[in-house]
Amino acid sequence: MPALKRIDAERLKSDSLLSLLSEVAKREGIELYLVGGPVRDMLLGVETIDYDFVVIGDLRGYVFSVAEKLGVSPDRLIFSQFYTAKIRLEGLTLDFAHAREESYPEPAVLPRVRPCYSIETDLKRRDFTINAMAISLNASDFGVLIDPYCGACDLENGIIRVLHEGSFRDDPTRAFRAIRYSRRFGFNYSIETVAEFYLARKFVNLLNFSRIKNELMRLSVEPERAAMFIDVSRWRVLMGMNAPLRAIRVLDKLLQPPGETHWVAFFMLFIAGKRDFRVDRLDQVTRREKNAIKHFLGVLDVPSDAPITEIHKVLRNAPDESVAALASLKNGAWLEYFKVRHRAAPILSGEELMKLGVKKGKMLNKILKAIELERLAGNLVTREDEVKFVRKVLESRKRF
Ligand code: ATP
Repeated sequence: MPALKRIDAERLKSDSLLSLLSEVAKREGIELYLVGGPVRDMLLGVETIDYDFVVIGDLRGYVFSVAEKLGVSPDRLIFSQFYTAKIRLEGLTLDFAHAREESYPEPAVLPRVRPCYSIETDLKRRDFTINAMAISLNASDFGVLIDPYCGACDLENGIIRVLHEGSFRDDPTRAFRAIRYSRRFGFNYSIETVAEFYLARKFVNLLNFSRIKNELMRLSVEPERAAMFIDVSRWRVLMGMNAPLRAIRVLDKLLQPPGETHWVAFFMLFIAGKRDFRVDRLDQVTRREKNAIKHFLGVLDVPSDAPITEIHKVLRNAPDESVAALASLKNGAWLEYFKVRHRAAPILSGEELMKLGVKKGKMLNKILKAIELERLAGNLVTREDEVKFVRKVLESRKRF
């Protein structure tokens, strides 16, 4: 269980950015709080890259004044209609939101948002107790921890606890968030949170896919993502689907270091059992991602024991993500292919081949493919090997 760090007001004051934000808040007559992830991470003694702040008062005026103090040009500020603003600095993002209340007219839709005027009310809308804490950055009580749900106790005891019953019905993406925190920190779920997972299963299909994709992207960058995707499968929160657990582990090892774009490869493992999956119905999935998924589904039936040359024919133009997903499902030569495919690309360019006497069009294509297969087999390594090979092929063509 983690031993929590003390919030040290003096140390916070010595942070030049936080003290600048606090001074500007005082001058502008607004209330300012550090909230959510950074508070949790500070108590855990973990470094935070993104700062989230809640403001009570004139958010816009405050953000403009902060930008001016920091020498950030106003056109680099991003405001949204949901009472939020962002300032991007070198290696650090500052997110500001006006304190707000949220209500969910229906399960799994985006909430109705309205501003509120107390930090405690704002904390009510949050996902878990460990994320529902704030630190005052106001002159009167600078550095005081505001913790209405005993988030610090849950943090100390390693527990992910929802704030109210029906939390995952309101927003089933919280199931993915719970999995992320539980595996990232090695925490357990409270009994209330476990009950919510069953609700999430019922309502996750109502979510707009772009929101699910966003969660899958966030899982994909985590070092413990294999354990996280295994939990997604076990809890059946991804449209009720599951994925072969061993394949998840293999895929994680194949695609390293972790990156957002890997979400699509993990997603493929979940739809592998659903040949009739309707890719076109997915919202906010790029054309490249859709094509990769379609290609993956199209190649799934090629036998697992196909020779590497056959595999190269079907995967020649496939993106890394689909090749990795297929390799982790099929193993054997497919796995080998993933590891060696980078060496298939010929050294000789099309132009160089034509200078050697290869004719443009069908013949050039055939020779390129032949070089690729020889390179995969390890028969051609250097430029000279390729030149010799091409000369030999051209010679034998002349003879017959
Ligand atoms: P990470 O450490 O992974 O960046 P974070 O805790 O900073 O995570 P964000 O997704 O950046 O999380 O969200 C910031 C804060 O907003 C969270 O700490 C939480 O209080 C709140 N929040 C975010 N998403 C939700 C949600 N779906 N439901 C309720 N509260 C949320």
